[in-house]
Amino acid sequence: MATGEKLGCFGLTEPDFGSNPGGMRTRADRSGDEYILNGEKMWITSGSIADVAVIWAKTYGDPGHQDGTVRGFLVETNRPGFGSWDVHGKWSLRASVTSGLSMQDVRIPATNLLPESGGLKSPLMCLNQARYGIAWGGIGAAMSCYDTARQYSLVRKQFRDQPIASHQLVQEKLAWMITEITKAQLLAVQAGRLKDKGKLEPAHISMLKRNNAAMALDCARLSRDLLGANGITDEYPIMRHLCNLETVKTYEGTDHIHALVIGEKVTGVAAYR
Ligand SMILES: Cc1cc2nc3c(=O)[nH]c(=O)nc-3n(C[C@H](O)[C@H](O)[C@H](O)COP(=O)(O)OP(=O)(O)OC[C@H]3O[C@@H](n4cnc5c(N)ncnc54)[C@H](O)[C@@H]3O)c2cc1C
Repeated sequence: MATGEKLGCFGLTEPDFGSNPGGMRTRADRSGDEYILNGEKMWITSGSIADVAVIWAKTYGDPGHQDGTVRGFLVETNRPGFGSWDVHGKWSLRASVTSGLSMQDVRIPATNLLPESGGLKSPLMCLNQARYGIAWGGIGAAMSCYDTARQYSLVRKQFRDQPIASHQLVQEKLAWMITEITKAQLLAVQAGRLKDKGKLEPAHISMLKRNNAAMALDCARLSRDLLGANGITDEYPIMRHLCNLETVKTYEGTDHIHALVIGEKVTGVAAYR
């Protein structure tokens, strides 16, 4: 995978368990030197083109672990009983393949178990890394939208042959965007500094991911507005960013769930249920 010869995917979400992955039904039953996997995963990026899937499942009969403990497995996608299908009709992240996975009595050697995994914190640790990167990506999309709107406002003329950039209400929107983008950059830089020191906590990452995804969506919507009718066309990148950012708001923990992570951190009260 590191040399780009093999593709992987990350299978946590299930049809009935998205924000609440702890409810997952996928199970891995220990049988001698093997595990037998059964279950379904949904919304898995690159699922049908991956060579290997990291599948999170509840284990049963696993030595040293209570039944129902979530653990991670490397599952080669050409194993008998492993199936996949693609989600069609997406208006967001259209350039990436999104799949459902099914496992029916898929046998894998016990050595395919991720040995350090144990409990829901294991997949969440992986997500923390991804969420950090996603927060930076949101800034890039917001900068593209802002830049497009700024340039457009300097050439588009309305009322007395004046560029729309000369209107105070237009400038207010541009000022808001550049301020929010800069704040998001500072948040991300500070998170990076904490990460380097090993002090980045899940609640920091929730604040970063939630803020930057929402900020980017707001920038995309404002930019779309400033381009008027032209903003809805594919001649400009705004609608592409806007549609993609809807996924960014939802995947890797929704806006609501990250609010609850922050809420738990500051109050000590978990409010997920
Ligand atoms: C394009 C795309 C790619 C993806 N790639 C992957 C992948 O590679 N691997 C993977 O495992 N998953 C992947 N996902 C899945 C993604 O992580 C889930 O969609 C996400 O966790 C939300 O789950 P859900 O869609 O089931 O929504 P739900 O959990 O059903 O949530 C629906 C709404 O209810 C709200 N909600 C739920 N519970 C609460 C609560 N307690 N309090 C307040 N509000 C609540 C949510 O915030 C949301 O607004 C992908 C999704 C998309 C769209």
